Amino acid sequence: MKIAVLREAAAGESRVSATPETVKKFIALGAELGVERGAGEGASIADGDYEAAGAKVGDRAATLKDADIVLGVQGPDPEALAGAKPGAWIVAGLNPFVERTRVDAYAAKGFEALAMEFMPRITRAQSMDILSSQSNLAGYKAVLLAAAEYGRAFPMMMTAAGTVSAARAFIMGVGVAGLQAIATARRLGAQVSATDVRSATKEQIQSLGAKPIFVESVAGIEGEGSGGYATEMSEEYQKAQAELVSSHIAKQDIVITTALIPGRPAPRLISDAQIATMRAGSVIVDLAAESGGNVEGAVPGETVVRHGVKIIGAKNMAGTLAADASALFSRNLYNFLSAFWDKEANKPILDEEIGDAIRLTQGGKVVNQRLLG
Ligand code: NAD
Repeated sequence: MKIAVLREAAAGESRVSATPETVKKFIALGAELGVERGAGEGASIADGDYEAAGAKVGDRAATLKDADIVLGVQGPDPEALAGAKPGAWIVAGLNPFVERTRVDAYAAKGFEALAMEFMPRITRAQSMDILSSQSNLAGYKAVLLAAAEYGRAFPMMMTAAGTVSAARAFIMGVGVAGLQAIATARRLGAQVSATDVRSATKEQIQSLGAKPIFVESVAGIEGEGSGGYATEMSEEYQKAQAELVSSHIAKQDIVITTALIPGRPAPRLISDAQIATMRAGSVIVDLAAESGGNVEGAVPGETVVRHGVKIIGAKNMAGTLAADASALFSRNLYNFLSAFWDKEANKPILDEEIGDAIRLTQGGKVVNQRLLG
């Protein structure tokens, strides 16, 4: 059983899908590890560190040769997988709804593509969840970026020269990233408020010392929502939410938006007209910029200024913390594969619940219900 760890090919991708720690652990399970030269560079891991952990470091062809499993942070180019065994597993964040052509190509080439972001939200799979591990870091970094771009301080300071007032931060979308953004903004001394469509988040917001701002006139999603996820809201709800945001946002200095709906474009939460009501020098970070954007005018990977307000469009935010992001991502992959490792067969054998949820392609076809349905 050979596992190949590729150097990420996507522009700006600094993470890596295995660390020396997980390499050692895979070897202890009985696997042989090949690591493409330079794979860990962006995450400050040297080739020698992988070698010391027991991996063979080589060029891409040597790494892929006879591989049974290919690991990636993002999906590798299907055309650049020559040498891997027929039917090899491609295990990575495959962004299936957006990268559908790539998924079709994995099928055509006979690979079994496993999309880690389709991991079901069940207790036993928590340690395998790349969305959680990466969103947590993204939420933290979003606040740091906002603080760096904000021309004022976050905490209230009483000085001999006068008082600096605390920044007001508003977090929209209180999933994993939003909760970490609240906690980080609080630690920096901001006055924090937050909103979500799921009623279960109200208590979580309060427990972090922030103020919940909720639409009360129209019912949101009671409890956690299906699988922990939100759905698209009714027109009536969206209208009530827009009114609520309009009255609240004009008083905010920092806004972090994180709202996502799986398989759909991110909901639009802030319009250009609402941005115009904010004080000049305020900062908005749109963590959903790559998924369609919560904020009108946000551009992934760029900072644009509208009405004197800086709008930071996030792009691969977790990747800017490449060492930690890689360590957590790699453990997610290890936790997943090791949980299903069959000692006798010396390979992982998936069960139905998780296998069916994450398997995109098999036997030359796309087989995943979320893509077919
Ligand atoms: P997400 O990234 O899909 O979305 C971010 C947040 O945006 C969510 O809280 C969502 O409700 C919110 N949102 C969507 N539309 C909105 C709108 N129009 N206005 C305001 N907010 C909106 O969510 P996530 O971070 O993946 O987490 C969702 C839930 O799943 C959380 O409760 C989390 O704790 C849970 N979870 C469970 C597991 C597990 O059990 N294995 C793993 C991860 C997360």
